[in-house]
Amino acid sequence: MSAGVWTAPGRVNLIGEHTDYNDGLVMPFALPLAIEVSASPRTDGRLRLSSANAPGQSVELRIEDLAPGSGPGGWTDYPAGVVWALREAGHPVAGADLHFDSTLPTGAGLSSSAALEVVTGLALRDLHELDVNRTELALLCRRAENVYAGAPTGIMDQMASACCTEGHALLLDTRDLSGRQIPLDLAARGLALLVVDTRVTHAHSQGEYGERRAGCESAARLLGVPALRDLTPQDLPAALERLPTGLGPLVRHVVTENARVERSAERLLVGEPGELGPILTEGHASLRDDFRVSCPELDLVVESALAAGALGARMTGGGFGGSAIALVPGAQAGAVADAVVSAFGRASYRTPLVLEAVPSSGARRLS
Ligand code: ADP
Ligand code: MG
Repeated sequence: MSAGVWTAPGRVNLIGEHTDYNDGLVMPFALPLAIEVSASPRTDGRLRLSSANAPGQSVELRIEDLAPGSGPGGWTDYPAGVVWALREAGHPVAGADLHFDSTLPTGAGLSSSAALEVVTGLALRDLHELDVNRTELALLCRRAENVYAGAPTGIMDQMASACCTEGHALLLDTRDLSGRQIPLDLAARGLALLVVDTRVTHAHSQGEYGERRAGCESAARLLGVPALRDLTPQDLPAALERLPTGLGPLVRHVVTENARVERSAERLLVGEPGELGPILTEGHASLRDDFRVSCPELDLVVESALAAGALGARMTGGGFGGSAIALVPGAQAGAVADAVVSAFGRASYRTPLVLEAVPSSGARRLS
């Protein structure tokens, strides 16, 4: 197939945090911010990667040399990893020139890494007419991120970028990857959703993520369940009694968070998105107090947004920086955004970036 342009969006997770590596439920939606790739096929076994957002860091690689740890490191590991994962799975990728350009902030918890992988995967699929569906593509992209780029993330981000649709959140069961599109028309109910990028990333975030993940896995082992997903809120009191004190709160977060995703989906399906507010705020408290992945900047977004009239707010993404979301009455969106920015000013934090998130399309070919 001939050269063209593809796009893949970043995502915001409405609810369901740190559940995806516990086989649980998540509910992301796609942002209007995305990464585009101009892609053309090559047949000489070479992969040329460049990005308008990484000037001076272009590379040309031999496809048959691609292996985890072999690359120069840095941003090109994500797209190179996708080529590696596709080929490992038996899909013949003969080569390509890929040039990326993005409107999506990087490192903001809005999943630019997954967007980069998914846009690469979709372009290569179409260019080389590979027989791979979107779910398979998301799995290969995740493998690229985990094994090639060395970031131990769950499947939510890649599935969101590949499978979300306009006007919907994707209720995704990360155990079997079954998804359901849940209508999320906030404007029709006079509501808006703000995303606040705190523009901080705390250095220890990767290590802490790994620790939480390992904690969840050992709790599941101690409790004799395949994953924490298999526990219900009714199981919690007995489970907490059996666990060492360090692990109990992790389990309580995961179990209550899965229940919050279910409650949120129910509220959306009956057309009451405003009722998500308290569920979001409850989710934040659980991430802050039980899972301990918040930070002062994220807490300040939540507190200042709620004080200014938000219906609910929470950190979104892995935590320790990145972004938070606030559900607000549409007429108060500007006032809430101003209040958050002023609170950051008073705390002498970097000025946060506030944008309104409208549920948008997943990855697709543009031309
Ligand atoms: P997030 O996924 O939350 O944005 P990550 O740390 O997982 O944060 O991924 C960010 C990394 O992805 C960047 O450091 C860079 O290596 C890569 N990346 C994202 N977008 C681009 C882009 N447009 N061009 C080049 N690299 C990018
Ligand atoms: Mg990422």
